[in-house]
Amino acid sequence: MRAKADLVLDFWDVGQADCTVIRLPDDRLFIIDVGRMGSPLIDWLADRSPRPQIAAIVLTHNDSDHAGALPAVLDLLGRNVETVWMLRDRPSALEPFAKIFRRVAAEESKGLIVRRLEDPAVLWEDPARGLRIHVGYPTFTANESARRANDTSGLILLEHNGDLLCAWPGDLPVHVVADRVSPRRPHLLHGPHHGGPTDFKGVNRDRFRNGVETLSPQLGFISVGSKNTYSHPRPGYLRLLAHHGCRVVCSQITNACDRDHFRNDIPVFEGSGALGLRAPRTGTPCRGAWRVRIRAGELEIDEFSQVHLNRVAELKRPLCLKGRGWTAREPLPW
Ligand SMILES: [Zn+2]
Ligand SMILES: [Zn+2]
Repeated sequence: MRAKADLVLDFWDVGQADCTVIRLPDDRLFIIDVGRMGSPLIDWLADRSPRPQIAAIVLTHNDSDHAGALPAVLDLLGRNVETVWMLRDRPSALEPFAKIFRRVAAEESKGLIVRRLEDPAVLWEDPARGLRIHVGYPTFTANESARRANDTSGLILLEHNGDLLCAWPGDLPVHVVADRVSPRRPHLLHGPHHGGPTDFKGVNRDRFRNGVETLSPQLGFISVGSKNTYSHPRPGYLRLLAHHGCRVVCSQITNACDRDHFRNDIPVFEGSGALGLRAPRTGTPCRGAWRVRIRAGELEIDEFSQVHLNRVAELKRPLCLKGRGWTAREPLPW
């Protein structure tokens, strides 16, 4: 039997929202964003017996699609949660942020550790395995001067002996991610912003394009809801990623890729069930949830990738296969 993976990364399908659950070597969980209120993560945690120990919950920012389920997670797990890392970037009188702050403050008085999410904080490390999760953004001053929440999303970085394995930028603009990690390139890039980076259009469009080229990730996970009203993911963004050699995986399918699947709610692949995770109550999975294992600094994609890819190749116009970097019918590049 193969040795246990160092880390198991579960990129959840939580609809138009974000949630990644990482299993650490000591079996505690490390969670990056928790999804909305009613997130399938809650039901999955409620199913576990005994309840899992959570080393940390990190909120890239306090928008409801990333942080909304936090009060419910704390209700359910209470003292099993050791640390919450979050931005303190919103007026606490503003609902629904006030609800999150109140709940966190109540738990803090009972011993929960609450920390400010800011570069250069180290969130977790395992020196023997060469692994480290840390914050790449925002700096203190960037956080203070931000006018829009997405612009100062936390940037969470997982590295192995300095090699950048994964980047979770929340809803940050692409050019900010590129500026922060360059000249390193993440093997895997999450999102950002559900496949619709905020710098995709407008004054920063050139910096966006250069940013995608600078980053050129090998793998991309787009956490997107079938019925989102923002036209996410942006076809042009997926094309650009693919053009630079990135293999993109989307959690749910949209009208842009295949109208029949979308209209008739026909899943392409039910990744959540296949991996033993809960599926969200809305949307139609394309990949559903996706699992990546880290072993000695290498990323290993889960065993369902080829079957998913074969089905994607049958879709009307799969955006993820449109680029010149890599085409359908070729064997998986990893
Ligand atoms: Zn946001
Ligand atoms: Zn978001």
